[in-house]
Amino acid sequence: MLFREFSAICQQIEVIRGRLEIIDLISQRLPALSDEELPVFVRFIMGRIFPDWSPEKLMIGPNLLYEGVAYVVGTKKETVIETINRTGDIGKAVELLLAEKEQTSFFSEELELVTVYHEFEKIADTGGKKSQREKLLVVRKLLANASPLEGRYLARIMLEDLRIGVGEGSIREAVARAFLIDSGIVEHAVQALNDLGYVAQLAKTGEAALRDVHISPFHPVKMMLAQQGSIMSAIAENGTIAAEYKYDGSRFQFHRQGGQSKLYSRKLEDVTNALPDVLAILNESTTTDIILDGEVIAMKEGKPLPFQAVLRRFRRKHGISKMQEEVQLFPNVFDILYLNGETLIDLPLMERRKRLETAVSGHIAPQLVSNDPAVVEAFYHRALDAGHEGIMIKAPESPYTPGMRGKNWIKIKPEVDTLDLAVVGAEWGEGKRAHYFGSFLLACQKNGELITLSKVATGFSDEQLAEAYDLLHDRIITKAGKEVRFEPGLIFEVGYSELQVSSNYPGGFALRFPRFIRIRDDKDITEIETLDSIRERYMRQPNS
Ligand code: AMP
Repeated sequence: MLFREFSAICQQIEVIRGRLEIIDLISQRLPALSDEELPVFVRFIMGRIFPDWSPEKLMIGPNLLYEGVAYVVGTKKETVIETINRTGDIGKAVELLLAEKEQTSFFSEELELVTVYHEFEKIADTGGKKSQREKLLVVRKLLANASPLEGRYLARIMLEDLRIGVGEGSIREAVARAFLIDSGIVEHAVQALNDLGYVAQLAKTGEAALRDVHISPFHPVKMMLAQQGSIMSAIAENGTIAAEYKYDGSRFQFHRQGGQSKLYSRKLEDVTNALPDVLAILNESTTTDIILDGEVIAMKEGKPLPFQAVLRRFRRKHGISKMQEEVQLFPNVFDILYLNGETLIDLPLMERRKRLETAVSGHIAPQLVSNDPAVVEAFYHRALDAGHEGIMIKAPESPYTPGMRGKNWIKIKPEVDTLDLAVVGAEWGEGKRAHYFGSFLLACQKNGELITLSKVATGFSDEQLAEAYDLLHDRIITKAGKEVRFEPGLIFEVGYSELQVSSNYPGGFALRFPRFIRIRDDKDITEIETLDSIRERYMRQPNS
């Protein structure tokens, strides 16, 4: 498939909008794709490049892209930024600029879909100064051969934000329909393999291949997630439940095979090098080929330290041994997904627990099994007294469902009014904070779109502002006066006193007295609060 054809499909989808029609259109295109094209097409159309399990990242920031565009169209970077400000979208801006250039030149070489992917592979994750130059050369080469419409989608894919509204659910449906396979089987295969592209390839060979999927070490799967609930309703639903402390740390997945081992974060980044102490503890507690799920916490004198201390260790690239002395980390293992070649996710929790207890010695999170609300309530209070966040209640018969948030895992913690929101913009600070951002614009989500909801300017220490600056300055997309807009990706947890109905923001709500609580860079943008859940919270307020 030519990238030109792919771009035409994207353009068609962009104007359709209706989910069923989109699924239909994609499913019709899939069967004709070659084995090599199929996974690339499937990932690109979702705005992704590499398999979800892969720690490979393109890491082309907006700045590098602007430079590449400016070079190819023979203009200044400022003109590119100006055009983005005018059109409100990097894709449309690149299209416009390439169209102006096209009148004076011809693009020389037709881009193939898979060639574009191979170019991306070349520049992924190469790190270091020289690589910026290599990346720039590839960006220039691709854009120089792109028609204006191709430029629109190339630019967006390079920033891994295609904005045509095709989510994983739609693609799963399209794959199921294209190859006449039950969508439940497709979904299960995606959970285990964590790469919809490869799943599509298997689906093409037939249902049997998809039924027989296995998890493999060093291909991390998405973490199973929890939803809110109550002890009473969880017991009413399940009879007997399993409860564990809810540790306030950071999620990890530990993979070990043939004496080699790795650690992954909640976002499936490879954090092995940042956490040598945790790795050593886990390597000592098990000698088999295994995949474990758990939470790392920081402890000092027997008490857990705030979660921020853990995150800082996860992010650390230099001075790791000094940090190790300052912040000691301990893993708490609560699940097992794979043991010696066997995939365990479909076994009931209690069966997995048995395997866990035989395969791992020490560092397993204690578990209470009970059908008595009073006993579980007492366990909850013990958890809080020990400085943990609350408890997790799990359905004993439930499988491990990667990436799913459902009622098989219920979190019980004291009611706090905080929201996880995406940072989409900021204003520069003043006075001694002039080199940092001082106030941040935050957004929730609705059907995958970001909806601004609040600004937050209080609750930051100087250190936190410096940290926020470090994490955000590479994400600047546009600048206007004192204001900047970011490529969304970073998440803040913010507190507030009340939700108010407001016409100041497009979602119709605003936060009263918003204050910064902490950076949640362990969370993914898809995990931010939805407008629906904010509306529900509003309805629960006593005076609403
Ligand atoms: P939340 O981040 O508030 O949605 O809570 C879910 C998170 O709690 C999980 O993603 C884990 O990182 C964390 N967690 C802490 N203890 C446990 C536990 N015993 N079982 C499962 N998740 C846990």
